[in-house]
Amino acid sequence: MPTRVYLDWNATTPLRAEARSAMLAAWDLAGNPSSIHAEGREARRLVEEARATLAAAVGALPRNVVFTSAGTEANAMALSPGLRGSSGGPVERLLVSAVEHASVLAGGRFPVDRIGLIQVTRSGVVDLDHLKTQLKDGPPALVSIMAANNETGALQPVAEAASVVHEAGGLLHVDAVQALGKIPFDIKSVGADLATFSAHKIGGPKGVGALVMAEGVGGLEPVLRGGGQELNRRAGTENVAGIAGFGAAAKVTLQALPEDVKRMVTLRDRLENGLCGIAGATVFADNVARLPNTVLFTAPGLKAETAVIGFDLEGIAVSSGSACSSGKVQPSHVLSAMGYDPAMAQGAVRLSLGWSTGPEDINRALEAWRKLGNTLLKG
Ligand code: PLP
Repeated sequence: MPTRVYLDWNATTPLRAEARSAMLAAWDLAGNPSSIHAEGREARRLVEEARATLAAAVGALPRNVVFTSAGTEANAMALSPGLRGSSGGPVERLLVSAVEHASVLAGGRFPVDRIGLIQVTRSGVVDLDHLKTQLKDGPPALVSIMAANNETGALQPVAEAASVVHEAGGLLHVDAVQALGKIPFDIKSVGADLATFSAHKIGGPKGVGALVMAEGVGGLEPVLRGGGQELNRRAGTENVAGIAGFGAAAKVTLQALPEDVKRMVTLRDRLENGLCGIAGATVFADNVARLPNTVLFTAPGLKAETAVIGFDLEGIAVSSGSACSSGKVQPSHVLSAMGYDPAMAQGAVRLSLGWSTGPEDINRALEAWRKLGNTLLKG
C-alpha cells in the first residue's frame, strides 16, 4: 500500500515537531497567565515568548500582537469602524477586494451599506486604479487586501495599496494568512496598519491566530469583552499551549524560509509543467507573481469534485477551488471575480506544497493526473 501524498497545505499543514514539543510542555503547566503566583508567571512567560517571536517575525512590536482563536477571528476583529492610525482615520467605511477570504468578505463590524468591493484583473490581482476611484468618493476607508490568495496563490500589490490608501487618509488591513512562511512578509516594509496570521498554516496548531497592528493604530473595538486579557483587546484566558505552538512554528518556519522557497519553486514548476502536458490542463494566474507552493489548474470538461475524489482514491489529498456549502458545490468566488464562467469556476483543482513535499510526491501527483485526465475527461 503506497503512502498518502498530502498536497493541500493551503488548507492546513501538519504540526511541526517543534510546535508539538512546545505545546506538550505548555499543557503540563497548571497556571493561568493572569495569575501572579509562580505557576501563573510560568504560563505568562510562554505566552510572552511566543508574542515576541511572532512580533519579530513580522516586523512588529510585541505589545501590538493580539492572540486570537483563528485567522477568522483576527479578520473579524480587524474590520472595526472607528480605527485610526498615524496616517489616517477614523475609518467610516470598508473596501475589500473581491477575492478575499470569506472571513473578510463578511465585513466584520461594518454595516452592509458601508462595504464596497474592489475589482481584480483576469489574473486575480487587485486593480489599483479601481481602488483609487473607490477611495476618491467618500469618507476615510479601511481597506482590506490579502497578501496572497489562498486559491490561486496570486500575490497582491499590498505595498502599493498601502501608499494609495494612506494618501487618501485611510488604513490598510492585510490578511497575511497564506503569506507567512511562504514569502517574506513584514508589516513595516509593506506599510500595513493591521495584519492577520494563522498558526495552522505554518505548522502550528489549528484554532490559534493573531492580529498584529502597526505602532499608533487605535480605536479597535474588541469583539470579545470581559477580562482584561491582551491589553483589553481580546477577553478570555489565553490558549497558552496553542500560542506556545504558534510561536515555535513561527520560529522554525522563518528560519527555514529561504531553503523551503527554493525547493518548493523547483517542485511547483515541475508539477505545473507536467500537469499542463496532460489532457489540455491550464494553470490559473500563471502570468503573475504567485506563492511558491500553489498550483490551481483546470482542464476542458473537468469537474473539480470528481477530480478531488479521483486524486483521493489514488492516495493524494488535493482540494477544489470551489466552496462546498450545504451539500451544493458553488463556483469559486475567486474565479468568478476573475471573470471565469461558472462551469470553469467549478472545474478548478488546487495542489499546494509544503516543507516536507518531495520529488516522489510530485511524481505520484503527475501519475494520478495522467490516469484521471485520460479517464475522467474521456467519459
Ligand atoms: N484568510 C485566508 C487567506 C485563509 O486562507 C484562511 C484559511 O483558510 C483564513 C483567513 C482563516 O484562517 P483560520 O482557518 O485560522 O480561521
